[in-house]
This record gives sequence, C-alpha cells and structure tokens, in this order.
Amino acid sequence: MKKFTGLKTRVFLIAFAFGFWLGCTKDNNKSEELKEIVNEEGETETVDTSVNKKSVGDSANDLLSDANYNELKLEVFYVKGFEPENATIENFENFLNSRLHKSQGISIEMKPMAYQGKETYTTQEIRALEDSIRTLYNEDKSLAVFGIFLDGEYAENTENGSVLGIAYRNTSFVIFEETVQSFSGQTFGPSLEVLESTVLNHEFGHLLGMVNAGTPMQTSHQDEEHGRHCSDDNCLMYWTAETGEGLINMLSGGSIPEFDSQCLADLQANGGK
Ligand SMILES: [Zn+2]
Ligand SMILES: [Zn+2]
Repeated sequence: MKKFTGLKTRVFLIAFAFGFWLGCTKDNNKSEELKEIVNEEGETETVDTSVNKKSVGDSANDLLSDANYNELKLEVFYVKGFEPENATIENFENFLNSRLHKSQGISIEMKPMAYQGKETYTTQEIRALEDSIRTLYNEDKSLAVFGIFLDGEYAENTENGSVLGIAYRNTSFVIFEETVQSFSGQTFGPSLEVLESTVLNHEFGHLLGMVNAGTPMQTSHQDEEHGRHCSDDNCLMYWTAETGEGLINMLSGGSIPEFDSQCLADLQANGGK
C-alpha cells in the first residue's frame, strides 16, 4: 500500500514537472493571447493582446520614436463623476506631442463607464477590468495605450501614502481620481488641474521607461531608495509625485513639474524629442 502511494506521487510529480516544462516552453516561444474585438469599422476581428501585456517600460522606445510605430492611439476610460478636467487632457496632449515622435499623430479618446461602486482596487482587479473593457491594441504601425480614471482607492494605500496613480503594464496606467480629488480644494493648495496633470504625466513617464526602467540612464540620477524615480526633487519623475501627501508638498509653485535635464537626456537618447 505504502509502496503504491509512493509510486503514484512520483508519477504525479514527473507529470507535474513535465507540464510545467511544457508551460514554460510555450510561454518562451509564443505567448499569443487572442481576443475578439470590434474595430472602428464595426467589424469583429481577432487581435493578439500579448504585445500590450508586457512589463512597464518594455515599450519605451516604441512610444518615444517613430521607427516601429508612427501613430499613437490612447483609449482613456473614466468612471462617471470622476472624469479629469478638460484642461488636464489638453496638458497631457501637449506633453505627449512635446516628447514623442509620432509622424501620423497622437489621439486621445475619452470613454465614460458606469459607476463601479468599489471602495478599493488591487492591481490584479485593475488588470481584469482593463481586459474586459479595452478595445484598442497595437496594429501595424499604430501603438495603443489604455488609461482609466477610477473611483475608490488603491488597495495598498497606507495612512500616509495615498497612491494617486500606477503604471502597471507596458501600455496601461490607472489614475485614482477619487483620491486625487480628495487632495484638491485646499486653501493655497494646487488646483485639481495641476494635481491631475502631474500624476498623469508622471505615470506616462513610467511607460516611457523612466527612471532606468526601459530607457537607459545617460547619467546617474536614479533615486534607488524609491525605485524607478529621479533624484532631482523638482523633476516630474521625483517619487513624491505619486502620493497625495507627497505631491501637495512638492507642488508649492502651482505649476506642473517637467522632466529635469537628466531625464530629458535619457528620453532623447532613446528616440524621444
Ligand atoms: Zn512613480
Ligand atoms: Zn528627472
């Protein structure tokens, strides 16, 4: 009896190991994730979504340069009641046009979605939400980016760390708009437009491979203690731009921070303007 169990276990382990090996091989060779979408002409087509499901920074060069993709299409969803200011989207468009080489243009489409009524979101839940609503994926020379302005807050917020946004895939970002709004309206504090624009541009900066995360550094300026951020406290990529408590202190001047010269040099060396 004992002998039998042992044999079964061994057979099971070998089968499991083989399955695991097969799984790895499959992933390494081809990781197509096909999805049926309705294109702009209203036709159903099958697209490979895996190119838009890579790590943050993996598409930095594709976003910055005109070589592989000469057009950028952004699909930005917002929960009703949590849409960004019109001025924020205009600032964002200017920001993109001033940094990215896209000879066929950059477009932003805003799409309302129903109130979610959720108090918190994990990154996993945001990925799942994206997978259920995203309609634009890379096609030929057109690069697609997905963004979402959410109600509720990030599940990993701490007492002094209210996360305002996250870049969580190579072409995906989220803005926790309800949290952003909760930090606006303070006397002498930054306007909602400035808060939103800073977080939005900062998260897109991560998609552009900043700092040292897909776009190689030309000089040493990574604040390693705070991960993929810049050591210049006036730079858009300074770590405090991502939490409400930090951003309120950073934005004393009331204007949207820009990339400092070291971040700009990195972006330009990787195909950007
Ligand atoms: Zn950041
Ligand atoms: Zn910088």
